Amino acid sequence: MNHGEVLALRKAFNSVREKQALNPPAGFTERKKRLKTARELCVGNEELLAKAIANLKKNGIKVHIAKEKQEAIDIILAELGDEKLVVKSKSNVTKEIELTKALEKNGITVVETDIGDRILQLLGTKPSHPTGPVAHLSAKEIAKRLSAHYGLPLAGTPEEIVKVVREDVISNINKARIGITGANAITAEEGSILMTHNEGNIYEVMRKEKHIVVTSIDKVYPDIEAAVNMIKILSFNATGSIIPSFLEVITGVSKTADVEKKFVKGVHSPSEITLILVDNKRSELAKNGFKELLYCIGCGNCLLHCPMYNTVGNEFAMDNNLGGKGIAYYSLSHDEKNKKLELCLTCGKCKENCPLGLDIPAIIRKIRSDGSSSEIYYFLKSHMIWGYYQILLRLKLENS
Ligand code: SF4
Ligand code: SF4
Repeated sequence: MNHGEVLALRKAFNSVREKQALNPPAGFTERKKRLKTARELCVGNEELLAKAIANLKKNGIKVHIAKEKQEAIDIILAELGDEKLVVKSKSNVTKEIELTKALEKNGITVVETDIGDRILQLLGTKPSHPTGPVAHLSAKEIAKRLSAHYGLPLAGTPEEIVKVVREDVISNINKARIGITGANAITAEEGSILMTHNEGNIYEVMRKEKHIVVTSIDKVYPDIEAAVNMIKILSFNATGSIIPSFLEVITGVSKTADVEKKFVKGVHSPSEITLILVDNKRSELAKNGFKELLYCIGCGNCLLHCPMYNTVGNEFAMDNNLGGKGIAYYSLSHDEKNKKLELCLTCGKCKENCPLGLDIPAIIRKIRSDGSSSEIYYFLKSHMIWGYYQILLRLKLENS
């Protein structure tokens, strides 16, 4: 990420922080406590996961558990059959299993439907925030690069960019028969799937004939109330609004019992829903002392406050795993002591601003440390790198 992109990222982060400050939600402390209790209860809880799966199946949803990345891809390929086009919405788990790459290798065109994700896909660049993936690019920069793709001169207003990308997305949604989404939560009590969004694209994608949901085994909540509480916290931390524009709760396929009380499936779409729950080392992590890391709800609030991320941007990341939490997760799930762990300043700003109080610096120390002398070395190294880039950014600001 260059200095201009870091400055654009800071501007976007500032606007979320300002919105959060203007709109402090009532009873937030109590909500966060409830969320923590739910995560402590659910993560790694095999009994609750089994209850959720049984109830999802009872509701007519096909459920698969994929132990590993390749197994998940194979299940999705089998579900897609001969389909050559799929539309997709934002999902960290599909990024984790590199689904798009795998499907494209098999001759399937994958079209992202979230505006930010579609821009990323077309520009072939890395994300900078879990819910605002192009926060580091100015409208002018996006327009310059999209003009080449669409063969259109774009002036560079957000409205114009959204219009052009939206038309492209809609034309693909209209052609596709299968939609793939992620999920924010699955609930044990009701056997429901919850998805939140602001753009309305998930609503379009999930109404295709067949809906494939790809998420991870740690997304279980005891019931809908606990899941909605998480959604409110996620929304506030990610965007500054206490509630997103849309919240989808799916508890089965489209059906009716209007004629002689006999159930007929597929009145509208979807007539088929498949849920793939990806493990990909999460069970191992939960058993090996890193359960806390799986409490994360992916709100990105830690990034807004991380001094290193605000200085080097998504250089402090591994693939789509952003910031200290992302790098810690990447290192553990790939069984490697990644060099980027050394960038963490262990300042604790992430912990202070995480709704779950995740002790990311402690987790990073646990992974990277070879004893107290190595921690002194990492402390000095990370602060020197941070100081150096701070000076470069200041110079850039003075000269701009
Ligand atoms: S402890 Fe590390 S990850 Fe957390 S805010 Fe500080 S530099 Fe960022
Ligand atoms: S670590 Fe905490 S603040 Fe960061 S994304 Fe996860 S839940 Fe949000």
